[in-house]
Amino acid sequence: MIYLDNNATTRIDPRVLETMMPFLTDNFANAASTHAFGVGASEAVKTARQQLADLIGAQTHEIVFTSGATEAINLAIKGVAEQYQAKGKHIVTLQTEHSAVLDVCKHLETKGFEVSYLPVQPNGLLDLDLLKNTLRKDTVLVSMMAVNNEIGVVQPLKEIGRLTREVGALFMTDGTQAVGKMPLNVDELGIDLMPMSAHKFYGPKGVGALFVRQRRPNRVKLEALLHGGGHEGGKRSGTLNVTGIVGMGRAAELAQKQLQSDAERVGKLRDTLENELLQISGTRINGNRENRLYNVTNVLFEGCDSDALIMGLENIAVSNGSACTSASIDPSHVLMALGMTETEAFSCIRFSLGRFNTADEIPQVVEAVKKVVGELRAMSGG
Ligand SMILES: *Cc1c(COP(=O)(O)O)cnc(C)c1O
Repeated sequence: MIYLDNNATTRIDPRVLETMMPFLTDNFANAASTHAFGVGASEAVKTARQQLADLIGAQTHEIVFTSGATEAINLAIKGVAEQYQAKGKHIVTLQTEHSAVLDVCKHLETKGFEVSYLPVQPNGLLDLDLLKNTLRKDTVLVSMMAVNNEIGVVQPLKEIGRLTREVGALFMTDGTQAVGKMPLNVDELGIDLMPMSAHKFYGPKGVGALFVRQRRPNRVKLEALLHGGGHEGGKRSGTLNVTGIVGMGRAAELAQKQLQSDAERVGKLRDTLENELLQISGTRINGNRENRLYNVTNVLFEGCDSDALIMGLENIAVSNGSACTSASIDPSHVLMALGMTETEAFSCIRFSLGRFNTADEIPQVVEAVKKVVGELRAMSGG
């Protein structure tokens, strides 16, 4: 089995698992309990909060732990919408956002909010002039992802942050594919809110966090989604997932240490894979190749149906579109936003690499893809 679907989820790093284990057994206490066991758990959460805050240049009181990025996205967008609706009801986002963001925005449209879904350029990047012309006095939130999960393009976050602050709106960036894989400093980039997820950077599933800026003069106020008990500064009630949080903290610490070495090693594997795949006729890379994260390549194979390709690749895990919309039979909304036809969008495969891929896997993947593409084209008489 060769796993090239790291943008859907990653394997837990063994070092993360090791840190988590005691909290599944002997250290089972509730972090809110005041006895010594509870204090031990709350100390472990404190360490994790520091590790995550350090990774993104935040303060510990700006981290709210959640059940994942989807919840953090809901908390951020709905929380801001409800809190700031007297100021305005206009939200700006991108057509290529993750479905969690798009679906929350669609929900808010039924509640009287107006949402501008900005198109991207054919290379997947936002046109900053378009954003500038869309921002208004009643814009309360700009939500634009850091790294796209399907094509890996990195949006111009610093410029988006600056333009957003100029009109007095808040800037949220979905950091789920970026955190732990590239340097990301919330102050340098002018980010006010950032959802994250542990399972996208070698931590466990079911735990995530939201960065919420708390330092004046840009202190963000949020209406909570979950009430009861007042955990996480009243922003997210519910007994803390201590095991998951400890794992997320450890994953953040490891990511910070290995950011550079992971990028260099995995980036080389991706480049080799991409260059080899481009040797196959009728292939092209989707999305801007310069402003792109090192671990992903999204390739169009002319005349090949991506579902058939995925089936044919048998022991190699790759994907078409996002795992989060895989129940849908529509073409990828991200690829369609690049201006592709449906047939083109249905001919694309995402290869997303990670920390545990090895150099010897690449030629095996290239061979397998060549074989299956050849077979599919022969069948369709191409
Ligand atoms: C995976 C992903 C999410 C959802 O994260 P969960 O923690 O699984 O809810 C949101 N946004 C992006 C960009 C993602 O890749």
